[in-house]
Amino acid sequence: MKNFRPEAQVLAKKIILVTGAGDGIGRVAAMTYAEHGATVILLGKTTAKLEAVYDEIVNKGWPEPAIVPLDLNGASKKHYQDMAQTIKAEFGQLDGLLHNAGVLGVLSPFEHLDLDTWQKILQVNLTSAMLMTQALMPVLAKAPHASVIFTSSGVGRKSRAFWGGYAVSKFATEGLMQTIADEYEDSTIRTNCINPGATRTKMRNAAYPGENQLTLATPEQIMPLYLYLMADDSIGVNGQSLDAQPK
Ligand code: NDP
Repeated sequence: MKNFRPEAQVLAKKIILVTGAGDGIGRVAAMTYAEHGATVILLGKTTAKLEAVYDEIVNKGWPEPAIVPLDLNGASKKHYQDMAQTIKAEFGQLDGLLHNAGVLGVLSPFEHLDLDTWQKILQVNLTSAMLMTQALMPVLAKAPHASVIFTSSGVGRKSRAFWGGYAVSKFATEGLMQTIADEYEDSTIRTNCINPGATRTKMRNAAYPGENQLTLATPEQIMPLYLYLMADDSIGVNGQSLDAQPK
């Protein structure tokens, strides 16, 4: 899977929503999906970043994307329901959903965990993904086969000192993924987690400011697993938590 070498148009005619598509791993995932034929729905907080990704995709001659500016910290259940209605009206179905957007919060000793930061991390990394998936299930069910991918982390399987809210959000993300995967086991919707591993982005730099970024994998280097789980090659893969980089 990490060595997945897809055909050029492996995602042709697929409609794929990517959250956090304006920067980091999400930006590269959206570009990669578009390059392989998908029409991507770019969701993120900063409109200017989404517009820059839109322009890059259009300039390359790949399928024209759609933009959904949305702050996951403030979005309500109704925002997701309205978005699902719009996707159904515009595209008729949703073939893929990559929950990638996330925040790190502040790494701090347990005694100093700040409630506002804790709640924001859980809202953006976990609760928003739950509400969005719930609202989008009927549109995902319209696709012949649909893939939902959540983004986990190494600290979502084994936590470490100071990673409080972020680690808890990723453990819970793994749990949510397993619950949905089990419930929809006999359906056309498959649900899995990706652990990207250490990747050269702003979030990684914020967590490890002293690290030499050049030693890290780029988002482009971890794309084979992102492509595999969206492609029909992974039909039947469900409830798995997979690593994008070798251990
Ligand atoms: P970045 O910080 O580079 O990018 C995060 C993305 O999420 C941005 O596009 C950002 O948008 C978006 N986002 C943040 N808050 C919100 C919000 N409230 N509403 C909408 N969008 C929001 O992070 P990475 O690319 O590094 O991380 C991507 C995912 O991978 C995350 O889930 C992260 O936890 C996970 N991960 C990353 C690792 C790494 O080493 N990089 C390792 C393990 C897991 P904007 O720029 O507009 O704020």
